[in-house]
Amino acid sequence: MTGSLNDSVSVLTGVGPKREQALNDLGIATIKDLILYFPFRYNDIRERSLATVNDGDKVLLKGSRISDVTVSYFGRRKNRLAFRMLVNDEPIQVVFFNQPYLKDKINQQGELAIYGRWEAAKQTLLGIRVVGGASDTGGQDFEAIYPASNAIKSQTIKNLVIECFKRYKDCIKDPIPSYYLRPYDFMPFKKAYFEMHFKTDDKVAEKARKQLVFYEFLTYQLKLLHLKFEREKAHNEAAVVAYDLSRLKDIISHIPFELTDGQKQIINSICRDLLAPYPMNRLLQGDVGSGKTVVAFVVMGAVFTSSGQAVLMAPTELLAEQHYQSALRFFEGTPYNIALLTGSTKPKDRRQILLGLKTGEISGLIGTHAVFQDEVVFDRLQLAIIDEQHRFGVKQRQQLIDKGEAVNTLVMTATPIPRTLAITLYGDLDVSQLKEMPAGRQKITTRWVRAKQLDRVYPFILREIENGRQAYVISPLIEESENSDRENATAIFNSLKTLFPSHIRLGLLHGRLDALTRQEIMAQFKNHEIDVLVSTTVIEVGVDVPNATIMLIYNADQFGLSQLHQLRGRVGRGKHKSYCILSADPKTETGKERMQIMCHSQDGFYLSQRDLEMRGPGEIFGERQSGLPEFKIGDLINDADMMIAAADRAHDLIMTNQIEKELDL
Ligand code: ADP
Ligand code: MG
Repeated sequence: MTGSLNDSVSVLTGVGPKREQALNDLGIATIKDLILYFPFRYNDIRERSLATVNDGDKVLLKGSRISDVTVSYFGRRKNRLAFRMLVNDEPIQVVFFNQPYLKDKINQQGELAIYGRWEAAKQTLLGIRVVGGASDTGGQDFEAIYPASNAIKSQTIKNLVIECFKRYKDCIKDPIPSYYLRPYDFMPFKKAYFEMHFKTDDKVAEKARKQLVFYEFLTYQLKLLHLKFEREKAHNEAAVVAYDLSRLKDIISHIPFELTDGQKQIINSICRDLLAPYPMNRLLQGDVGSGKTVVAFVVMGAVFTSSGQAVLMAPTELLAEQHYQSALRFFEGTPYNIALLTGSTKPKDRRQILLGLKTGEISGLIGTHAVFQDEVVFDRLQLAIIDEQHRFGVKQRQQLIDKGEAVNTLVMTATPIPRTLAITLYGDLDVSQLKEMPAGRQKITTRWVRAKQLDRVYPFILREIENGRQAYVISPLIEESENSDRENATAIFNSLKTLFPSHIRLGLLHGRLDALTRQEIMAQFKNHEIDVLVSTTVIEVGVDVPNATIMLIYNADQFGLSQLHQLRGRVGRGKHKSYCILSADPKTETGKERMQIMCHSQDGFYLSQRDLEMRGPGEIFGERQSGLPEFKIGDLINDADMMIAAADRAHDLIMTNQIEKELDL
């Protein structure tokens, strides 16, 4: 019989309209979908002798001489079916809850194979399923369990898959030649898929899975590379930023410090990108405090010297405001105008800014999400910089790019993304890393204390303040609402007020304050008119006050490692010794481990890798916003090595031109 993998599942035995719908609901429409619908686990149904079974094991036991079958009811729906049987001449008890109908099946059989959980103390098998008569399991060692639904059971899916392989296995061709998969072993894909469903052996199944994961990742990486090459192939003069070198050098010469080698290198690469006749697409990763902002400003300056415009977007108003202030200072004495546009810009100012952008009178726009709005129209937008990328979706990046003809983009992130994820997310980007910190950065001493030890922490903070330093106090993270966020911060503010002597000046910052007030409070803190700033996490990114040397974080275990690292990065920015105090009473072992990790490491890459292992990418990047692709078999965390290997292999294949004709992407 001939068929195609694109045949509808309705060709399979017993699949009428209703069952077809149930399969569709699981995302299975065709034979191919079904072949790609893998079990999520396998029950080990190799026959075991009682002697080898441990308490709590899930096992298949075969027994005979069934006796004493009883069903007892308690309550209206609850019941218990029990009987005795002999397993290797030893009597055991078997119990099934709430499956009284099994009674008939059991009475009829002389021998039974039952899958269940062994309770050693009671010599009882807590039945999960009657697999069949003792002879029914002949030969099979593993039983596939599929993700199922109310409308269709795993067992039914399994039977359909069996039929599917009987009828269609010859349609499964190798989609790529074996050398693509180097350095992984190759088996015919037909066999690999078969092994995924009908595991015959642990080792073979693992090999099959590896091959399919690698294939999945490789295909993905090839697509990304393909996109990248398409972009670079499309010659576009509009993307060229012909900056004026001597004017750019002049701007750089006014920077009040010496750029680090890393900063210089990155500026060089970016300038090379700007001159190229295709849009730049670059990711700049740099740990908190590594000095990304100044890189952004220099690049903006380059664009300005070619009469182009640039937009810099930040995730919060606070940060946008700070960038704006820094940019004003940076471009002081140059002919370039900078404007700030956020949700709280007054309508009158807004109208003027919009006009200035349209005429080209404003060269640089700094803002929040507000810069996405349709009314924001540029005269000649050549560069979009996005700070703290992980808070923006991939779509939003595109929205910005669409505001110009061939916009060069630079994405800056302080959440150091482990290489696996960077490759996965941004395979079509060029990635630069700012590895070194500006000279003179201090190590931040981090301590974890229990809430009850806080009485000893407050005097320490007070002493630092009396010595002329400043402190941040971060209130707990509250998921429910901004309101409770504010209440929390306010409560801490009030209690510190009674705790500290009256000459200590306290400030309070939270998301509910309007932008102007927030800006004012930040300015006061920066000017040392406030000693202790109590804040919610609005303070999180980018804020720069070198005299602040202490950070106290309440309920620190509620934060992710990366977020704690970002918060901590607010201190240790000046010449004084800095401290971060984590107050937490974690209840779980991982919670405790996380606090210890924070105390020992100040390496953003390491911390985000650990975060990734402990919490998964969704938690770090936000499930919906992350833009993380979904893989059918591959797992971004457990198969991280393979993603890197796949990226390298894809690169090799493309470079040696082996791919051109063979693969249709
Ligand atoms: P981040 O990468 O976290 O955004 P910033 O750009 O805010 O870091 O830089 C942190 C601080 O370091 C700022 O005060 C900035 O002025 C300062 N800085 C940046 N580059 C240098 C440098 N090369 N030498 C000295 N200080 C620098
Ligand atoms: Mg920054």
